[in-house]
Amino acid sequence: MIRQYELVERVKAYDPDACETTLNRAYVYATQKHGSQKRASGDPYFSHPIEVAGILTNYKLDCDTIITALLHDTIEDTDATPEEITKLFGSNIMKLVDGVTKLTQIELKSADSKQAENFRKLLLAMSEDIRVLLVKLADRLHNMRTLHYISKPEKRVRIAAETLEIYAPLAERIGMHDIKEELEDLAFQHINPEARESILARLEFLREKDDNVVNRIVNELKDVISRQGLKVDIYGREKRPYSIWQKMQRKNITFGELSDIMAFRVLVEDMPQCYEVLGYMHANYKVVPGRFKDYISTPKPNGYRSIHTTVLGPENHRIEVQIRTRHMHEVNENGVAAHWAYKQDKPSGEQKEGVQYRWLRDLLDILEHASEPEEFLEHTKLAMFQDQVFCFSPKGDVIALPARATPVDFAYMIHTHIGDTCVGAKVNGAMVPLRTVLNNGDQIEIVTSKAQTPNPTWERFVVTGKARARIRRFIRQQQEDQYKDLGKAILQKAFRQEGYDYSDKAIDGVLKIFKLPSVDAVLTSVGAGHHTGREVVHAVFPGSKDKETARKVVPIDKIRERKHDHAIPIKGLIPGMAVHYAGCCHPLPGDRIVGIVTTGKGVTIHTIDCDTLETFAEQPERWLDVGWDNDGEPEHFIGRLSLTVGHEQGALSSITSVIAKNHGNITNLRFTNRTTDFFEMLIDVDVVDVKHLTNIIAALRATPVVNTVERARG
Ligand code: MN
Repeated sequence: MIRQYELVERVKAYDPDACETTLNRAYVYATQKHGSQKRASGDPYFSHPIEVAGILTNYKLDCDTIITALLHDTIEDTDATPEEITKLFGSNIMKLVDGVTKLTQIELKSADSKQAENFRKLLLAMSEDIRVLLVKLADRLHNMRTLHYISKPEKRVRIAAETLEIYAPLAERIGMHDIKEELEDLAFQHINPEARESILARLEFLREKDDNVVNRIVNELKDVISRQGLKVDIYGREKRPYSIWQKMQRKNITFGELSDIMAFRVLVEDMPQCYEVLGYMHANYKVVPGRFKDYISTPKPNGYRSIHTTVLGPENHRIEVQIRTRHMHEVNENGVAAHWAYKQDKPSGEQKEGVQYRWLRDLLDILEHASEPEEFLEHTKLAMFQDQVFCFSPKGDVIALPARATPVDFAYMIHTHIGDTCVGAKVNGAMVPLRTVLNNGDQIEIVTSKAQTPNPTWERFVVTGKARARIRRFIRQQQEDQYKDLGKAILQKAFRQEGYDYSDKAIDGVLKIFKLPSVDAVLTSVGAGHHTGREVVHAVFPGSKDKETARKVVPIDKIRERKHDHAIPIKGLIPGMAVHYAGCCHPLPGDRIVGIVTTGKGVTIHTIDCDTLETFAEQPERWLDVGWDNDGEPEHFIGRLSLTVGHEQGALSSITSVIAKNHGNITNLRFTNRTTDFFEMLIDVDVVDVKHLTNIIAALRATPVVNTVERARG
């Protein structure tokens, strides 16, 4: 175990300004708090945080990180409180300790690899300060080094598997190569000890057979390069058992066939020398095709830079040679930690400030070399995961959701049916409103009820496409049902007016004329205003007396064509822009109009005197100067009339016949108020333009039963 003064000395060796007092205080605090607690090894528990701190001094990490390492288990495992830690060490340290504690508290329960991927992202997202992640990795490394003390084999295997799935890739992603390799090797010992043993035995055999081969190769390579007058360092080593094992699995080869088990590193001064050395290698030895990789011109997403080539080297040994500068080497091995230490060397007055952001910046620095945007997204970039949130299902699955997701999004993500029937949600055991915004690591339980259906108000707060699409579909379905009922009512009335009895069967006989697949579709079409009741009656009874007023039936596909393909009779629009006519003011050709740009919906056309426009008074950028284009073919528009009509027999039929005589089609009729004396109603009429509507209004005013008639606004 590292002694107190030893730890302080280690930190002071690379950071002379280190806060000695606080370091000492943290050391003593951790030993006192963990007191007589014991590790599985029988060691006092406090040896663990001290070792973790020791690991981090190897990466020359700042004082706060070392102190956080010393305190990292106190909140979780002792009676230490956040208040006490804040008082003794300040709020910055407390934030870091809290971060590590949170990472420790979440636990992955499912082992499939998709889950592992999400879990890694969760850990990254939760490590707002990368130092939190570094402490967590060092914590895991020390636990792995002492894993053999755990007596239960299943527990050892579970922890080792988690290390392989989660922590080794995390270490690699932030570029901490040697932590990654050690974690993998330690895990390999517990997961597949036989394979590891046989690889080690084989390596031993090769070593005995060919004594000192690594040294001989190193010497020959040195010779070849120094002949050119270059000063380089060359290190040779056998590859790690786990990386040999992976290669054997990946390539499906046996150990005998695996030739390049030796790797050599050539460290040079600057980048041009890297390519110079590469030249000497290829000039002196046969190149193994397909193995050359230039990670200097195209670094890996985690910032790794090096040149790799495989040659038939000295004594015809197949060897991999990695060529890099010393600085690249340091970054390759220690990732962000090295990068940070390197920057820290620079004298700077703003050192103490914004440390957290500098860390992020440094990480971004490394990542900006990433070549594949996808990989870039996939890996490492902490900030990237700030727009995602990761939550747990009751079974322990990690569900990735966009930021600001709610329990409804979560429910739809689990299963459409659960979304459709959700009535409530528990977050971390407590009931919350369905609109609650979820946080990283929340555990969500959805309460469902068979009687529930999607609620249209959910659409206002859900953020996932899946939830939104499903809710909209439901609303559309509901609307269609309403149209169907309305259509039926309109038809029954239209049939009665013409002296016929309505029957589904009669409609069934004329489906072809409308090009609609079913009776329901005809009803819906009438309800939605695509066809009038009169059109349907005349389709069923072609010989009807009222032939002149009957309009030629337009099949449904022609109506749709008309709606979509006809040029929009409006000037001042960008071609291809979607256009809607506002439901509040129902603009008609001839009206003075204005366009309002609506995000995701194109342009909505309002009449210039529409009250709704006040809403957009503050946003002049959304106003679009538009006018009617009279060159186009006549289109049909909906005009809305507001009427007060005397309550007397035949009133409604005289109104409808006045409108029909003036070639207007009623597409909708709604009573807004009904007293003993008067009806108030809104009538939507299919007209050609504003003049057409004015004519109808005039004709209505001339009708005795009509008390008042106006164009309806809003
Ligand atoms: Mn720990």
